Amino acid sequence: MSYNLSIEEENKEIAKRYKDLLKGAYQSFTDADKKEIRKAFDIALEAHKDQRRKTGEPYIFHPIAVAKIVAYEIGLDTTSIVAALLHDVVEDTDYTLEDIERLFGENVARIVNGLTKISHLKKDQDASVQAENFRKMLLTLNDDVRVILIKIADRLHNMQTMDAMPPDKQLKISSETLYIYAPLAHRLGLYNIKSELENLGLKYTEPDVYKDISNRITQSTEEHKKYIESFSNILKSTLDNEGFEYTIKGRRKSIYSIRKKMLSQGVSYDEIYDKFAIRIIYKSTIKKEKFDAWKIYSIVTDHFRPNPIRLRDWISQPKSTGYESLHITVMGPMGRWVEVQIRSERMDEIAEKGYAAHYKYKNKNEGETGLDDWLNKIKDSLENPNSNAVDFVEDFKLNLYSKEIFVFTPNGDLKALPKNATALDFAFSIHTQVGMNCRGAKVNGKLKPISHQLKSGDQVEIITAKSQKPNVGWLDFVVTARARTRIKNALNEDQKKIAEEGKEILTRKLRHLKINLTEKVVNELVVFFKLKTSLDLFYRMGNGSIDNNQLKEFISSRNSSIVNFFKNRIKRSKSVADTIDKNEVVDNYDSLVFGKEEEHLDYKMSQCCNPIPGDKVFGFITINDGIKVHKKDCPNAISLQANYAYRIINAKWIDSTKQEFRAIIKIHGVDHQGMANEITKVISTNMNINIHNLNISSSDGVFEGKITVSVKNKTQLQKISDSIKKIEGVDKVERIYKL
Ligand code: MN
Repeated sequence: MSYNLSIEEENKEIAKRYKDLLKGAYQSFTDADKKEIRKAFDIALEAHKDQRRKTGEPYIFHPIAVAKIVAYEIGLDTTSIVAALLHDVVEDTDYTLEDIERLFGENVARIVNGLTKISHLKKDQDASVQAENFRKMLLTLNDDVRVILIKIADRLHNMQTMDAMPPDKQLKISSETLYIYAPLAHRLGLYNIKSELENLGLKYTEPDVYKDISNRITQSTEEHKKYIESFSNILKSTLDNEGFEYTIKGRRKSIYSIRKKMLSQGVSYDEIYDKFAIRIIYKSTIKKEKFDAWKIYSIVTDHFRPNPIRLRDWISQPKSTGYESLHITVMGPMGRWVEVQIRSERMDEIAEKGYAAHYKYKNKNEGETGLDDWLNKIKDSLENPNSNAVDFVEDFKLNLYSKEIFVFTPNGDLKALPKNATALDFAFSIHTQVGMNCRGAKVNGKLKPISHQLKSGDQVEIITAKSQKPNVGWLDFVVTARARTRIKNALNEDQKKIAEEGKEILTRKLRHLKINLTEKVVNELVVFFKLKTSLDLFYRMGNGSIDNNQLKEFISSRNSSIVNFFKNRIKRSKSVADTIDKNEVVDNYDSLVFGKEEEHLDYKMSQCCNPIPGDKVFGFITINDGIKVHKKDCPNAISLQANYAYRIINAKWIDSTKQEFRAIIKIHGVDHQGMANEITKVISTNMNINIHNLNISSSDGVFEGKITVSVKNKTQLQKISDSIKKIEGVDKVERIYKL
């Protein structure tokens, strides 16, 4: 496409595009609104007058197009349309934020500021910088969700007009779109925009696949049309007789979703049977619309046999995006399963416009909608500036696409949680402290462990204990971003405490050896033990994984060789001399474990994707070559997982100093009152150790106890045994291997 218009034609085109902007908007405008929009347009036009887009078009085409998406497709208000017209003005021209505020007031200025901040984020390739950018972007949700909505519109138009960009930029922008913008659009209920972003993303990341699927769709268009016609013809007379006013439409699965399904189910295009759904949209009133939906359901199932396990009632319980609809799958003409979506015009509007329609219909007295609730939850998890940005975005993203379940609190309140959420996730969703102290749960009246996966309809009551606190194992089963962030923060706090103790221990031990703990010595120790930071060193001292013998080895190596000294000096310049008050505790992944039991097994790294410590990986049991470890996103992974699921073994990187194992201690002694109490107190207050099982018996004044504990290493176990031995009356403490 080349662009060549004369100045005159160009001005005409600009005027035409501007007029279009007000025509099909979702909201209606007062004269004052129209004046404000006109003013914004004039200023944007003037500000961008010397700029052109890569295509050669005048720059103003872009803000007009973004404003149009905002007005038509997202259906936002005047403030948003004005902000959309001005969104690149502060960024790219001489206008300042103060100018905007003076001309358009505080609201518009705040939104434009949010948008400018986002585009100021460093455009770096580095994953963590990237993630930090996304996090900052999500932070703007905190101020005004309209910032993100306009940003999504901006991204959509940029994706629509990306042909003129160089290929590397196309690829980068597309990946970013698929990574964060599409999931966000989905979560904000903008289903059409989400599909378009995904399709365009696929077009640039996998052009051949995209072309192939879109050709096949074009070829089958006629056939689909006929099918939908034959379907509606069967229903028509009954629906008409019942006096319904309705339309029946075919809704095709997007190219991207077809692709996704082909990959996830390992099938070809022809093998996908649900390429389109049929949508029945009817006129109704708020009062009657639910009743009408079930009436239509009844009519549809009179003619077509329903699949009983494919009924989804999003009317009685809307999704937290606000989506409402009744979905059934029926055996349609020609013996084909087809999904039928039944919804009123109002419900359809919400499904199409998401956010805007939601608020149009929202009754002020109804309280919070699912979307408000969600926005509040986000604000909450954003409040933790300490969490690692990559993790944060990963965790956050997980929650964007997840399906939902609904569970009840003991009072009968309904809570939406992502699928696979556990009792612990539920506890954190109630309150952070409830999560921190969660010991177990009563699910439908029965006692369950905190890792118990909840199902829709469960009634859940959380059991807490003051002594309970988070441990690293919790991260294996929680799925909500909120719970993950909270647990990670608590663990970091814990580690810092242990590290502080460790620093004191180290200082004391070195003093005995006549060495002062200077920064230089710390650096030498960090290098000697092959660690990353001083925090790692102090932490390992604190939990006992560096013992006296190892310290002595260090001393002798230090004294023995002057060569080592110089070596260390060179390395030292690379090792960071962190101090203990550094916020983030970095994981040292130094060991790979397999399966539920986290066993250490022999393995080889696969050549195709070369995983490194910290990567998300899985093990594949080969026939002749033992376990091969692949990255989860290895190009071979999908086919391996699809075809040889039974040969896949879970694998994960761990920090071996944080791994815990269980040990049983047997205690023998002469009983006295309060002895059991003293023992448990020694264990739970002195150290960071969890008690799993406690079994105490006493007869004829003889005391016998068996305690199962989690420890990180033998030194810790030794420490507990030593402290228990000191309790009055205890005469024997030993480790046993079976209860
Ligand atoms: Mn822009």
